[in-house]
Amino acid sequence: MALSGIQIYKMLPQTNCKECGFPTCLAFAMKLAAKQVELALCPYVSEDSKALLSEAAAPPVRPIALKSNGYEVLSGNEVVLFRHEKRFFSPAGLFLRVYDSEPEDSIRHKVQAVADYAVDYVGIELKWDGIAVQADGGDFAAAVGAVRSVTHLPLVLIAPPDTLKPLLPQLNEGKLLLAFATADTWPAMAELAKAHHAALAAQASSLDEMVSLTEKIKAAGVDDIVIAPAQRGLHGTLMANTTVRRMALKQTFRALGYPLLNLPGDAPTPEMETILAAQAIGKYGGFLLMDHFTPETAYPLLVLRQNIYTDPQKPIQVQPGLYEINNPGPEDPVLVTTNFSITYFSVANEVESSGLPAWLLVTEAEGMSVLTAWAAGKFDAERIAKDVKRFNVGQKLNRKRLVLPGHTAVLSGEVEEELPGWEVRVGPREAVDVPSFLKQAL
Ligand code: SF4
Repeated sequence: MALSGIQIYKMLPQTNCKECGFPTCLAFAMKLAAKQVELALCPYVSEDSKALLSEAAAPPVRPIALKSNGYEVLSGNEVVLFRHEKRFFSPAGLFLRVYDSEPEDSIRHKVQAVADYAVDYVGIELKWDGIAVQADGGDFAAAVGAVRSVTHLPLVLIAPPDTLKPLLPQLNEGKLLLAFATADTWPAMAELAKAHHAALAAQASSLDEMVSLTEKIKAAGVDDIVIAPAQRGLHGTLMANTTVRRMALKQTFRALGYPLLNLPGDAPTPEMETILAAQAIGKYGGFLLMDHFTPETAYPLLVLRQNIYTDPQKPIQVQPGLYEINNPGPEDPVLVTTNFSITYFSVANEVESSGLPAWLLVTEAEGMSVLTAWAAGKFDAERIAKDVKRFNVGQKLNRKRLVLPGHTAVLSGEVEEELPGWEVRVGPREAVDVPSFLKQAL
């Protein structure tokens, strides 16, 4: 359970010496309870109190990062059940699962498609995160070799301990995830995970059994545990994931305070697999193993993940500045917009698809859309004029034409006053109407 400020205060020396930078021990305790300072700032805490407070200060969901050759996929470290309460921190890692019963060429081909896939979404590069290899009666080492001949993305290895044991010493990996430790295999799997500093996925048929399993694995010396519920289907996965996350966050129940691994790839059809993956992205999945990879399903899953894991209090922004679209010249118009990335990409895409040249002046508006920024006083004549000068826009033009977004027509008179010598026009309200405006009005 998380400790309150008063509970923490009782474990501090209560001398109010101020060496921690706070006027009283109580003030320091309150900051500790809010996880805004480190306990190490107080040099006088007893060893017993330190042990108790460190345990209480540990994150409720242990962060686990799978690493390999510069790649990293982090899961865990979440502090809220619902995104609007604060934010989600560690985007669900998406893994393609291949089987050692498949021909090596087929494995290489599938893995290559994942490794090559990258898509630009509002200026952010979205990619798949890793590969899982599952033993299925074939040559497991050869299958892992086929994967590694293509990519060094992080790996999940799903095989019995006897299969993993001879292979692990040959793999020069940062941090692997081994699967699955069950009621029968956990001693041998824990030994392997400990010896090779790997994370270990535990699988049990009920959450009661899972608690007992993770406690035994932890007692065996493995700290990085991943919970892989055996439940399948939309209802089963949702119930298991939600219960685990709720117990970890609301009860600080350490035996379930680990990231979750889900297997949408076990679904009967590729369509259901995608639906299960979407649900797991929204509801607490930490690592998702999928059996199919196609751009048309990868893209919506990545965009969904991106939307859920952005900070709702910080809009996605693009760099303010003067952008060139379709090679504009000194006679071409300057369109003005804000640095909210979706606004920017909406306008930029429309201008680009029109085939007509234009300059796009992206003003500093703290990442807000045009109307929001205008209402908040972050998009006004003074700021627009300031950015026109800051980015030397006038020096690039013979004919100085500035086009304001249609929603802010009210600013046109003030902008003319701020920018003498400029012809100020009012553009359309919606980005979709920009091409026809460029063709007809200009
Ligand atoms: S340094 Fe420790 S003892 Fe001194 S005021 Fe801060 S919390 Fe209290």
